[in-house]
Amino acid sequence: MDSQYETASQPDTGNDVYTFLEFNTQGDEDFDYAEFQGLSQPIRPSASVWPSSSDSVSALDIASSSEIRGGRVAAGANNGNVSSGSSKDAGVVESLAAGMSGLNFEDTGADDEIFEYGKGEFAEHACRYCGVTNPACVIRCNAPSCRKWFCNSRGNTSGSHIVNHLVRSKHKEVCLHKDSPLGETILECYNCGCRNVFLLGFISAKTESVVVLLCREPCLSVSALKDMNWDLSKWCPLVEDRCFLQWLLKVPSEQEQLRARQISAQQINKIEELWKTNPDATFEDLEKPGVDDEPQPVALKYEDAYQYQNVFAPLIKLEADYDKMMKESQSKDNITIRWDVGLNKKRIAYFVFPKEDNELRLVPGDELRLRYSGDAVHSSWQSVGHVIKLTAQEEVALELGAIQQDFPLDVTHGFSVDFVWKSTSFDRMQGAMKTFAVDDTSVSGYIYHHLLGHEVEMHLVRNAVPRRCGAPGLPELNASQVSAVKSVLQRPISLIQGPPGTGKTVTSAAIVYHMAKQGQGQVLVCAPSNVAVDQLAEKISATGLKV
Ligand SMILES: [Zn+2]
Ligand SMILES: [Zn+2]
Ligand SMILES: [Zn+2]
Repeated sequence: MDSQYETASQPDTGNDVYTFLEFNTQGDEDFDYAEFQGLSQPIRPSASVWPSSSDSVSALDIASSSEIRGGRVAAGANNGNVSSGSSKDAGVVESLAAGMSGLNFEDTGADDEIFEYGKGEFAEHACRYCGVTNPACVIRCNAPSCRKWFCNSRGNTSGSHIVNHLVRSKHKEVCLHKDSPLGETILECYNCGCRNVFLLGFISAKTESVVVLLCREPCLSVSALKDMNWDLSKWCPLVEDRCFLQWLLKVPSEQEQLRARQISAQQINKIEELWKTNPDATFEDLEKPGVDDEPQPVALKYEDAYQYQNVFAPLIKLEADYDKMMKESQSKDNITIRWDVGLNKKRIAYFVFPKEDNELRLVPGDELRLRYSGDAVHSSWQSVGHVIKLTAQEEVALELGAIQQDFPLDVTHGFSVDFVWKSTSFDRMQGAMKTFAVDDTSVSGYIYHHLLGHEVEMHLVRNAVPRRCGAPGLPELNASQVSAVKSVLQRPISLIQGPPGTGKTVTSAAIVYHMAKQGQGQVLVCAPSNVAVDQLAEKISATGLKV
């Protein structure tokens, strides 16, 4: 036991693909698998490698990690009685749970050092939140940049530690511990290989005590296993109520949880934020000065525009810093290029920009730097361009300089791509707030007080409300769109909100049309992204206005 904890290391499973996870509690060794022609025979290791002093565990054969690399894992119980219950489904889960509850990692006494945080050597597979080390209770996040271990206890939070981590970090894949009852196994859909644990569930065979993992979309919905002996209506998600199912990942015992570090949801938020810049950060780092400087909360009312600026300027700075960090960490190497020339005679480079487990996605207008570090016959080269489109094949089209420039056109492999971060939109926000504070003429008194949340007397604009609120070239407006148009035309400032697809863009275009027709001058339209401006401009143009 002792040596097992101390030698536990993160196995490198990056290149291994486990395509099948099967739990077989059928006791009969001579069981005929003829009905599973589509599936290959499970590996049935004869030697028990499960290290425990408990008798109940010796009945459970566990495949060692080297055997699982063959592509599948089978945990078969030698005891023929375990699945003799009347309900087969319940039998599978119960017998697995029974096997797991027999696992005992607390009774050696030598584990104290490991459980107690900050004392002695910390096991690598300890839950990074609370320190629990029981291999039956911990699971590894399989995101390549992460590979941290978390347990299945909720502690003081609403979700289990592993689910908390996956949600906050937007990671989705997990791998069981090599010493867990099912061995070192990446959880994935039997049919398509999907590893998103939030889509995965399990189903039991109709006649045998075997379980497979299947994803909800698309494999369950297209009944991918319909020809086989599986009852798809019995599909159950692996993550339920923000916790992994217990037969798959045990919840640490009350005693283990009491000895673990008590961590709040707020601490989890902070450490997850810290991991984005420093993946090895620990809870001690949270106590360092500077980490804890909370910005002022936003208010519903402000004294004046200076107070407003004091609250919002640091928030915009934080957002800008985060955006810069996210985008600049997106450099990709070994990019393969396809060269082309655009209609405007500019050089275009096409390439696939690998998507990773992050929230950043490229949009037209983004600025990228294309680099080539040089070789025996080419000197190093770089050029900055704009994304002009993303093709259906997920290719990025990057428009570079004029065709006469010096491009390494005979090279297609080994390029690098960096994101060029621009502060323009954040600079404009800061600039606008400063103008709002120092320049009395920047906005009307009504808008000034309205933005600061002061009580202001309703102020109607004397505008003729059009009899027909729609505009030529646009779809007919529905009743709530009509009332939005009327209301906006009579007020100096309005907010229209609605879920996606409810026609905010069409309504906005109709408003712009009527404002322009009232002949009070030009109308300035702005939106938070180039894509949104383009869509609005398209609709406005459809009304016949000059855009
Ligand atoms: Zn992770
Ligand atoms: Zn934990
Ligand atoms: Zn699938």
